[in-house]
Amino acid sequence: VLDAAFFVRWMTAAAAVIDREADRLTELDSPIGDADHGRNMQRGFAAVVKTLEAEPPATPGAALTAAGRQLISSVGGASGPLYGTLLRRAGKVLGDAPQVSVEELRSGLAAGVDAVGQLGGSAPGDKTMLDALVPGVTALSASFAAAAEAAEQGALATVPLQARKGRASYLGERSIGHQDPGATSSALLFATLAEVAK
Ligand code: ADP
Ligand code: MG
Ligand code: MG
Repeated sequence: VLDAAFFVRWMTAAAAVIDREADRLTELDSPIGDADHGRNMQRGFAAVVKTLEAEPPATPGAALTAAGRQLISSVGGASGPLYGTLLRRAGKVLGDAPQVSVEELRSGLAAGVDAVGQLGGSAPGDKTMLDALVPGVTALSASFAAAAEAAEQGALATVPLQARKGRASYLGERSIGHQDPGATSSALLFATLAEVAK
């Protein structure tokens, strides 16, 4: 079972990984975007950690809701509202249970991923974060490690795709051959989840 402290550890570890990988995320966002994804994620997750430290959440739902709200208010780019919506919706689904099962987390995140698709008007195959989030959440029914692996494969599989949403879509066919930055950061979030769950 997963308690509020587990979710704080996940967000804290994610902030550290994003910090370490920020330059790579920004480099991926340079040929098919505006070269700010690393910086956006860094700013957002630093703010999330600050919030969770200042007001320790009592439940998993409160942790994810607070994190999502903070991402929305601190990240200007598309990824802020999208990741914010993912976590806020997942938090809402988890409600005020003091502990949740992996299956409850999976269904919360699944609802969050649906909300991302609705907000973004996007679907898997559009070369966005959904290409890592959807396989990651699906594989979570097997294990945390399987989810991390599926999300990583999903991110890699964005390379040959032509972007249909977000800034990269402005490039049309020229978006082909580059890995999507948002799918890459999504894979990092699943990798961190697997690490923290060990
Ligand atoms: P911005 O594009 O505003 O600079 P970021 O660079 O932080 O924002 O994030 C870009 C990432 O956001 C993309 O790589 C993609 O994964 C994701 N993204 C952009 N638009 C959408 C959308 N409509 N649906 C899902 N994901 C999207
Ligand atoms: Mg960008
Ligand atoms: Mg931007």
